Amino acid sequence: MIGVFDIARPGSVAEASALLREHGPDAAIYAGGTELLILLKDRLLEPSLLVDIKHIPGLDAISLDPCGCLLRIGALATHREIERSETVRAALPELAATEANVANIRVRHAGTIGGNLSFAEPHSDPATLLIALGATIALESDAGRREVPAEDFFTGFLSTAREPEELLTEVLVPTVEPGTTVIYERFKIHERPSASLGLVMDIEGGKIGTARLVVGCIGERPVRMIRAEAMLAGQAPSPDLFATAAALVREETDPTVDAFESGDYKRQLAATLTLRALERATGSGATGGAR
Ligand SMILES: Cc1cc2nc3c(=O)[nH]c(=O)nc-3n(C[C@H](O)[C@H](O)[C@H](O)COP(=O)(O)OP(=O)(O)OC[C@H]3O[C@@H](n4cnc5c(N)ncnc54)[C@H](O)[C@@H]3O)c2cc1C
Repeated sequence: MIGVFDIARPGSVAEASALLREHGPDAAIYAGGTELLILLKDRLLEPSLLVDIKHIPGLDAISLDPCGCLLRIGALATHREIERSETVRAALPELAATEANVANIRVRHAGTIGGNLSFAEPHSDPATLLIALGATIALESDAGRREVPAEDFFTGFLSTAREPEELLTEVLVPTVEPGTTVIYERFKIHERPSASLGLVMDIEGGKIGTARLVVGCIGERPVRMIRAEAMLAGQAPSPDLFATAAALVREETDPTVDAFESGDYKRQLAATLTLRALERATGSGATGGAR
């Protein structure tokens, strides 16, 4: 049974932040509630105050800057809203497609992007792709706003760079130039993905320019595969090159072992997804598969 608590409905970010500052660890932010309510029911969290941020105007906005180069997704945008947004579909179709495969329809309807990222549960789909895209997370409090690269936002298991009095308010996602391919691959047989792979890669004159390659869901947080990225840059795509990249990813990953999957199995998943993503990006090999 859920414990007893008060609910506050602040009308602004500053008001919400002031409540968080005043009540410290006794307060919890409440957005869609899909993770929070499980914690409350299991008594893993017993706040005396829920700060319900759903009524703060504008926090669910999705827009594209006039330059066309930056997508802004408000923290309260639900997975379903992002999946169905014409703006997201046009600017970054792979992000919309990724959101369409998060969880199940009930969770997608209630769960927000801000809640997904703030909770930092390691099996997040969007976290992996957003890091590959070079996204930035906006954090706001009654003292002001700062922006943190998504790559630095996740600091460990259920842990982020967010300060207790800050709200995640917006996700800023750069769009990509023509010629740059955005790929998200994952392997999922349980409720949440076992492994995920984000790849953003451009090819010019038959050679790879830059590649951002991120492995998620297998460790405490999504991690860029720096060695594989460096190896791919400047090279002509080929089956041998992709096999070498996959082997590097297998070495570079640092999986956590859990009740379902061994470290070796997770490394193999990461390597397989790498190969699959590189083949999809270049239109070679077999594409698609379990998502
Ligand atoms: C059955 C199930 C299956 C799932 N499967 C997947 C999956 O396949 N892929 C995937 O990526 N995710 C999956 N999820 C996770 C889902 O995406 C998240 O539960 C959801 O996005 C969380 O958003 P929320 O608004 O409900 O967060 P809440 O439950 O309201 O909050 C979650 C946490 O974040 C904090 N918080 C919320 N909003 C903010 C904010 N703006 N600023 C700061 N802190 C905040 C809360 O205090 C709380 O600690 C699954 C969840 C469930 C329950």
